[in-house]
Amino acid sequence: MRKDMLNIRALTCNLLQERLYVAWQEAGRCIIADPGCYSPAEISALEDLLAQESLRPEAILLTHGHFDHFFGAKLLQDRFGGIPVYMHPADEAVLGYSADMAGRLGLKAPDTDFARTPVQDGQVLEIAGMKWEVIATPGHTPGGVCYLEREAGVMLTGDTLFAGSIGRTDFLYSEYDDEIRSIMEKLILLDPDIRILPGHGPTSTIGHERTHNPFLEPFNEPEEPIDPELEPVVIRGDI
Ligand SMILES: [Zn+2]
Ligand SMILES: [Zn+2]
Repeated sequence: MRKDMLNIRALTCNLLQERLYVAWQEAGRCIIADPGCYSPAEISALEDLLAQESLRPEAILLTHGHFDHFFGAKLLQDRFGGIPVYMHPADEAVLGYSADMAGRLGLKAPDTDFARTPVQDGQVLEIAGMKWEVIATPGHTPGGVCYLEREAGVMLTGDTLFAGSIGRTDFLYSEYDDEIRSIMEKLILLDPDIRILPGHGPTSTIGHERTHNPFLEPFNEPEEPIDPELEPVVIRGDI
C-alpha cells in the first residue's frame, strides 16, 4: 500500500465552486485534474502551490467537457510546454456548447483552443509515477469519465458522483438513465474504501455513498458496520 504517498491538494474555482485537484506521488511531478481556475487570484493560488512544492504538471485530466472544469486548460497547457489534456472525445459537442453555457452565467467564454488527447474506457494513464485508470461514466455528459488511482485508493469522480448527490442531468446532452447505470455498474461496486474526490463539494468514500447517497436510495444496500472514523483525509482542503 502506498496510500500515504499520494499527495492531493484542492482549490475551489470560479462561480460554480468547482474543485481543481493537484495530485503527485513523486517529488517535482504532478497532474492537474479539472483546472477550472478562472480569476487571476485562482490562477496565482495554483501557481503558488506549484512553486511551493516545486511541482511541474505533466498532464491535465478532464473528467468532462463542462466549462467550469477547464477554464485554465489552455493557459496551463501553453505554460507547461504543451502537456497533454486528456478528455473523452464524446464530450466534444459539450465543449462546443461551453461558451453559451458560461455566457448565461455572465462568465467569459472559456478558451477551448487546447490540444486534446482522447481517452477511452479501461485505459490506464501512467503519468508522473501514478496510474490513473479511465472509467467511462456517461450520463451527466456523454463523455464523462472518472479517473481511479487504484493503489492509492482515490478516484476523481467529476460531476458523476458527489458526496450525497449525483450529477445533474437536466443539461443539453445529459441522460439520467445513463448516469444511474454508470454509477451502479461502474462505480458503486468498487472497493468501499476508495475515497472519491468530486468536481464540487466535499470528499466521501464509495462505501459511504453506497449506503447513504439519497439519490441512490432505491439501490442502497443495508448498512454494513463501517468505521465512523473514515480514513484520514489525504486532501488538505483549499490551497
Ligand atoms: Zn459538469
Ligand atoms: Zn461541474
